[in-house]
Amino acid sequence: MPKTETEWKKKLTKEQYKVLREKSTELPFTGKLLRNKEKGMYRCAACGNVLFSSETKFDSGTGWPSFYEVEKSDSVELHEDTTIGMRRVEVVCKKCGGHLGHVFPDGPREKTGKRYCINSCALEFEKK
Ligand code: FE
Repeated sequence: MPKTETEWKKKLTKEQYKVLREKSTELPFTGKLLRNKEKGMYRCAACGNVLFSSETKFDSGTGWPSFYEVEKSDSVELHEDTTIGMRRVEVVCKKCGGHLGHVFPDGPREKTGKRYCINSCALEFEKK
């Protein structure tokens, strides 16, 4: 796994670097995996860590891939984020520290009530 920012720049695309390493957000409705409905696992695009399953993916209408649960509770870390003048909870890959997106408390009520709002370009899909 890359250790320096120079190494990350080599491994990731420009867009992935901006999101994963600089905590940027991709434009809504642009991600390749937004409408993906195939069965499989979503891994961190930077390090391959298993993050989400297609089983918990849902259409939130927000323009970003959304999940109501992580595959394993210890695959991500949550950090408080107040950068845009509101309190949000940032979701970070526990293995490589890459920024993935945010988690909001407005997910499906009948499930967990959580909405993991994840940048498509921070994910890599592995079909089952
Ligand atoms: Fe990672």
